[in-house]
Amino acid sequence: MSIYKQKIDSYLQLQGLKALQLRAVLFDMDGVLFDSMPYHASAWSQVMQEAGYNFTPHDVYMNEGRTGSSTITTASLAQFGTIPSQEEIDRLCKAKCDLFATYPETPRMQGAIEVVKKVKACGLTPMIVTGSGTPTLLARIEENFPGLFAADHIITSFNVKRGKPHPDPYLLALERGGFAPYEAIVVENAPLGVQAGVAANLFTIAVNTGPLHEDVLYNAGASYVFPSMPALADEWEKLFEALTAK
Ligand code: CA
Repeated sequence: MSIYKQKIDSYLQLQGLKALQLRAVLFDMDGVLFDSMPYHASAWSQVMQEAGYNFTPHDVYMNEGRTGSSTITTASLAQFGTIPSQEEIDRLCKAKCDLFATYPETPRMQGAIEVVKKVKACGLTPMIVTGSGTPTLLARIEENFPGLFAADHIITSFNVKRGKPHPDPYLLALERGGFAPYEAIVVENAPLGVQAGVAANLFTIAVNTGPLHEDVLYNAGASYVFPSMPALADEWEKLFEALTAK
C-alpha cells in the first residue's frame, strides 16, 4: 500500500468515511501558487516594526494565512494586551499593501502551473482559498494561470469575516463549488492554513515552500508534506490514484 493510501485511509477512518469522491482541489495562494511569501514577510515585518511591534519575518511565516486584520490584532494582543483600533488596522494594512506594491512582480511558484494543469486534466475543479487581500496579486491570477481558475472559484479575505485558521474560507469554497468535504482536498503551505483545512474536515496536504521545519506542518495536522510544488507535480499521478481508489 502506498504511503498516500495509508494517509488517506487514516483520514477516512477519522471522518467515518468509506472513500473520497474527489471532485475539487482547493489551493492556498501565497506560498503555493505564487512565490510571494518572502515579499510578504519583508513588507509585514517592516511595517509592523515601524509601528512599534516586535514582528520578525519568522513571525510572518508563523502567522501566514491570517487576514491582515487578524495578523495585526493577534500581534497587538500578544505584545500589548490590547485590541487595535479599526483605524490602526486599516492604516497598517494599507501601508503593507502599498509597500508590497513597490516590490518586483511576484513570480509564480515553480511547479505550480504543472500541478494545477494536472488537476484540471484529471477532470477536477481547481479553486483558490486565500487569506490574502492584496489587490496586486489577486489581479494577476488569470495572467499567471490562464483559464484555470473561474472567477467565482476564488475565495479571498474579502469574502469571509473569520479567516484561517478558522475553517470558514474552506467551508465557503465548498459551498460555492457545491462540494461536500469528502469531494475535495486542500493544498496548503502554512501551519494556520493547514489547521483551517483540517478544521473544515478536508484531507489536507502541505507543500513546504518556506523556511519552517516540516514538523510544524505535520503538527498542524497535514496528512502529508511535500518538499515543493515540483515534487507534488511529480507525485500527482500516484497521489491521484490513491485519492480515487475504492
Ligand atoms: Ca500560504
